[in-house]
Amino acid sequence: MSKLYNFSAGPALLPHPVLAEAQAEMFDWHGSGLSVMEMSHRGREFMEIIHDAEADLRELLNVPAGYKVLFLQGGASQQFAMVPLNLMGEGGHADYLDSGHWSRLAIKEARRYGQVNVVASSEASAYTTVPAQGSYQGSSGASYLHYTSNETINGVQFPYIPDSGVPLVCDMSSDFLSREIDVSRFGLIYAGAQKNIGPSGMVVVIVRDDLLGRALPCTPTMLDYRVHADADSMYNTPPTWPIYIAGLVFKWLKAQGGLRGIAALNSEKAGLLYHAIDASGGFYRAPVAADARSQMNVVFRLADDALDEAFLAGAKKAGLVQLKGHRVAGGMRASIYNAMPVDGVKALVGYMQEFARQHG
Ligand code: PMP
Repeated sequence: MSKLYNFSAGPALLPHPVLAEAQAEMFDWHGSGLSVMEMSHRGREFMEIIHDAEADLRELLNVPAGYKVLFLQGGASQQFAMVPLNLMGEGGHADYLDSGHWSRLAIKEARRYGQVNVVASSEASAYTTVPAQGSYQGSSGASYLHYTSNETINGVQFPYIPDSGVPLVCDMSSDFLSREIDVSRFGLIYAGAQKNIGPSGMVVVIVRDDLLGRALPCTPTMLDYRVHADADSMYNTPPTWPIYIAGLVFKWLKAQGGLRGIAALNSEKAGLLYHAIDASGGFYRAPVAADARSQMNVVFRLADDALDEAFLAGAKKAGLVQLKGHRVAGGMRASIYNAMPVDGVKALVGYMQEFARQHG
């Protein structure tokens, strides 16, 4: 087993027990004599896998009746197009909140399909905050309001769910399943798999039934939510291996006490790391405003960025990898998704303190 602690923003680490189980079942899933990768997606075995994955996800998130759960391809980026294609409506318009890199990409893509109103932006803060609750109003007659609950690159996370009189659409890619949420507040949630769900190549979509069947006439068949909903994610060959691993991750999450259990651990981890930054006497700095700090992607800088390379090289030696910030943000970023053990964060904090002692 790897002795590294992997702080990558995604594809990110998976729980060791999940990898071990996948390894044990690699050649022969439950006595079927087949690897999951070789199975017919319409066969009895795979139907059991996808059914269990969906049931466990519904249980974890307490998904109310009246919502479809879809396992689709194309990553979260494809949702940037699918959302407006399906929900904007002919001649319609949509509201977006701009909180950083990923919401900007969603906005850019949606503009191809209709009018987009950016009703609030935290650009003026260099995306170190999110638009404040109550500081903006939706436009009249908008088809939906879209926001990004956690900006993976900037390391900002909404501390609240926006109120909207219209269907609320959320890119939850990087904080999905990290805490309890009230699904009934949302019209549609999507999340790319490679952070808290499983391997890349899949996106999970949770969509309220009344939002199906509204796609623009030009919508490609494969990008129509209703097509996938009617076929229970089996319109074409679905991403079978990611669905299987996701199912194992969901079972693992249930064993951690579900989302309440994992949320407590996530708070503990983020608390340890931000405390280490804040208590470093300025050696490390977290640029994000305290109330918008992400619990998943902890962005920080060294006061002296000439030390960045030494910091990263020493971390790697200590088995702490993938700490370099995104190329558009610079500095450091420690992604501490569900699968990161508390011990991994303690090891990082210990290293940071030691590095500061040596170089402060
Ligand atoms: N949204 C967010 C919040 C993300 O973090 C990412 C990927 N890091 C994406 C969208 C794009 O995801 P994908 O690469 O799966 O298309």
